[in-house]
Amino acid sequence: MSATEVDESERSAAATPSRRPAVIAAVLLCALLVVVIALTTPWHPLPGARTAPDPRADFTPAQIARSHAFNTDLNPPAYGGLVAGLVAVLLLGLTPLGSRLLGVLTRPLRRAPLRLVGTAVVLAVLTRLVGLPFDMWSETVLRKYGLSTQHWGAWLTDQATSLGVTLVIWIVVLLGLHLLVRRFPRRWWAGAAVGGFVLVGAASFGYPVLVEPLFNSFHSMPAGPLRTDLLAMARRDGVPVDDVLVADASKRTTALNAYVSGFGSTRRIVVYDTLLDTEPRPEVELVVAHELGHAKRGDVLHGTLVGALGAAAGVCVLYLVMSSPRLLRRAGAESAADPRSVALLLAAVTVLTQAAAPVENLVSRRIEARADMHALDLTRDPETYVRMQRSLSASNLDELSPDALEYALWNSHPTGPERIAMGRDWARLHHLTVPPPLAGGTPP
Ligand SMILES: [Zn+2]
Repeated sequence: MSATEVDESERSAAATPSRRPAVIAAVLLCALLVVVIALTTPWHPLPGARTAPDPRADFTPAQIARSHAFNTDLNPPAYGGLVAGLVAVLLLGLTPLGSRLLGVLTRPLRRAPLRLVGTAVVLAVLTRLVGLPFDMWSETVLRKYGLSTQHWGAWLTDQATSLGVTLVIWIVVLLGLHLLVRRFPRRWWAGAAVGGFVLVGAASFGYPVLVEPLFNSFHSMPAGPLRTDLLAMARRDGVPVDDVLVADASKRTTALNAYVSGFGSTRRIVVYDTLLDTEPRPEVELVVAHELGHAKRGDVLHGTLVGALGAAAGVCVLYLVMSSPRLLRRAGAESAADPRSVALLLAAVTVLTQAAAPVENLVSRRIEARADMHALDLTRDPETYVRMQRSLSASNLDELSPDALEYALWNSHPTGPERIAMGRDWARLHHLTVPPPLAGGTPP
């Protein structure tokens, strides 16, 4: 037995007992996460729904063909970027080549915290550079179809801003983690799990006031009949709203959208200026009624708590990765306290978040459908609802019949035809006139 083998087996033997509490915590937190998701997701947002989605009923053949062509053009850069990003972090985190490259690039930095920050910067820049050609490709597709209104200068500024935000978050997380690992080499997972939970909550709370203004300007919707109607609708709904914000989305896109972000004192309802400029007032009211559904149900807070629980469970899994002598050796790191282990951490985080995305989308689609049903309950106007869904899907060139993989990976909302079918079911179940097909198709 060579000296390194002795060293290795000693390290494994020393590591094994300390891993057991983290394994138990990971299993318990994952089980809790599954139970919370199973119990709080509105799996059946409209009991009795039965209409099958049919794009041909409401979209013209030209609209269907254009949406499909756009998404077919967008798929290669989207899948390419996803695969390239995964390959890059796995190469950096789990191969001698990756650890040598990181070693060379961060060699001038001697002190551990400085080296940690340097590794974070190198990793963030390298992974961004790998993704950049695919993102530029996607941007050219968006321009070809008239969805992007940006010039390359503004586009690159967005990329740099988002890299800056990522770096600030990484450095805060890594320095905090480093302190914990140094202070509690065997128990850092417990503090880090609590830290992960708190950080997700704080990030979601602070995001609307700290990050969103870096990308968009917001102003209160000007006084007028629309604003008066929207605030009256919110009052009728019992949702305390004293302002509706308008984002200058048109500097970037022609897409139509609205959203709710933050919770408590940072909660805000935002509509894109593109929506106000192109859609008639009843359609805008329906979009806002959907957002009120999110606000009334506390969907942002709920999503934050589930995400925070997921982060705490994820941290326990990360501890198991970061305390595996085999994986650390692959990353060229001696322990979790070694700055070189950051690449392994990034690889594990990327794989975990990618694996979670289809589950997040599955849950999100049900929550979005519930907000749609809320909008219908509030406005009792299925005809405008169907027109609004058709208009949003057609303007945004949403894929109307995605394949199973596209649906799992990219669809955080039900498809336009699914939302329309549910609107018709809502009308039927509430004994109101079922909206006729908008493209002259056969009634579903
Ligand atoms: Zn929504």
